[in-house]
Amino acid sequence: GKKFTLPTGLFINNEFVKASGGGEKITSINPTNEQDICSVEAASADDVDKAVAAARAALNHESWRDISGTERGALMFKLADLAEREKEVLATIETWDNGKPYGDALGDLGEVIACLRYYGGWADKIHGETIPTTPQKFAYTLKQPIGVCGQIIPWNYPLAMAAWKLGPALACGNTIVLKPAEQTPLSILYFATLIVKAGFPAGVVNIINGYGKVAGQALASHLDVDKVAFTGSTATGKHIMKTASVNMKNITLETGGKSPLLVFADADLEQAAKWAHVGIMSNQGQICTATSRVLVHENVYDKFVALFREEVNSTSKVGDPFAEDTFQGPQVTKAQYERVLGFVQSGQSEGATLAMGGKPCSLNGKGYFIEPTVFTNVKDTMSIYREEVFGPFVVVAAFKTEDEAVRMANSTTYGLGASLFSQNIELAHRVAARIESGMVWINSSNDSDFRVPFGGVKQSGIGRELGEAGLAAYTQTKAIHVNMG
Ligand code: ADP
Repeated sequence: GKKFTLPTGLFINNEFVKASGGGEKITSINPTNEQDICSVEAASADDVDKAVAAARAALNHESWRDISGTERGALMFKLADLAEREKEVLATIETWDNGKPYGDALGDLGEVIACLRYYGGWADKIHGETIPTTPQKFAYTLKQPIGVCGQIIPWNYPLAMAAWKLGPALACGNTIVLKPAEQTPLSILYFATLIVKAGFPAGVVNIINGYGKVAGQALASHLDVDKVAFTGSTATGKHIMKTASVNMKNITLETGGKSPLLVFADADLEQAAKWAHVGIMSNQGQICTATSRVLVHENVYDKFVALFREEVNSTSKVGDPFAEDTFQGPQVTKAQYERVLGFVQSGQSEGATLAMGGKPCSLNGKGYFIEPTVFTNVKDTMSIYREEVFGPFVVVAAFKTEDEAVRMANSTTYGLGASLFSQNIELAHRVAARIESGMVWINSSNDSDFRVPFGGVKQSGIGRELGEAGLAAYTQTKAIHVNMG
């Protein structure tokens, strides 16, 4: 029942301003009913210049440069408190814009708030070290902010992705130009009003909506941006890596995945089926660490598949994201919906067995809904086994031995997450070490935590976000050599 106004401008220097690029706007569409929500400004390269200039000025301004870590932390705590007070509004906006179930959006907000508090707590605990060298000399290190950081984020967890990027960057004293995904700018724009209320100096955080090829490109190639942190597709990540070389920007890239979930013969199959379900079907399957390949020991394959089907049948209710019993809402956009349905066709023409779902569905004839989809008898040569689908779409295949399980797990170009289920403690740790991925979950799946380093190997990315590794990625180490004569 609460009334609120959705800001639609570019957020530069703590103000909402119009884009200068000739009137182009982005219309946000509600994927549940396919209706326009509103139009927001789309940044041109000139607008990106203005946002970067604001961030540069803030970096060198005493109101940010000269405050203590404790004061930075206090601003972040304040922001977290404001987000907590407004979490229903933020979650509602996110459900309109993204289509995710409201309960999940509220859950994401809990993460956003806790993440800001956690990194707010780090803000006064970032320090260097002293290194004795010879009796006459020593050195010490300063952990300085990297500077102006461009942060480019995707549409699957708009606010949570923003918090994962803003939290560590702000704790370390950087200033930021953040570009939300053009599909889901609204919750982040509302969040910007809280940044002002929390008392952040103007220019510390700037938020520019815009298209990837215009605003994203301008940010990633900007000569006055010191770092670019990106989460999104592998193709765009590669492009950004090239673009960022113009001034040798520091980069952190978190890209695609095709994460395996391994079920060994001694696993608790009921638990494995439950986690396999949330690992792929949560958030409409739109998770970079989604466990989209389930690999099962041949001795328990039939039993596991039966339990998994039962779990999907009884739990994965598709419907109105504002209804309490809905597990799965619509895919975020028509393009994503069509992409997922395209993979259903590929799976069928490649000869895999469509064991469940695969059909589009709707709410009163509208919405980008897809039934939870399970393919079995999948071979590692098929595209549905190798390519990231980013939908409620899972492939199930069998393995015979531990070596084969590891080989199959590692047989894609990706290496983001992996899960394994076994009661054998030696096997679990042995396999966890052998899997080529940035994260492994033992007896759970996809259960990320903002305190733990997150990122991928191979074509799933470069560098780590979050945890101490994530903080290190937002600081420069300066060595100061002291000669005492
Ligand atoms: P998806 O295909 O899932 O939308 P993208 O990797 O294209 O994933 O998008 C993730 C983010 O990257 C979005 O904010 C998008 O606007 C941005 N983006 C897309 N293309 C570029 C580009 N060429 N340069 C910089 N950013 C881009």
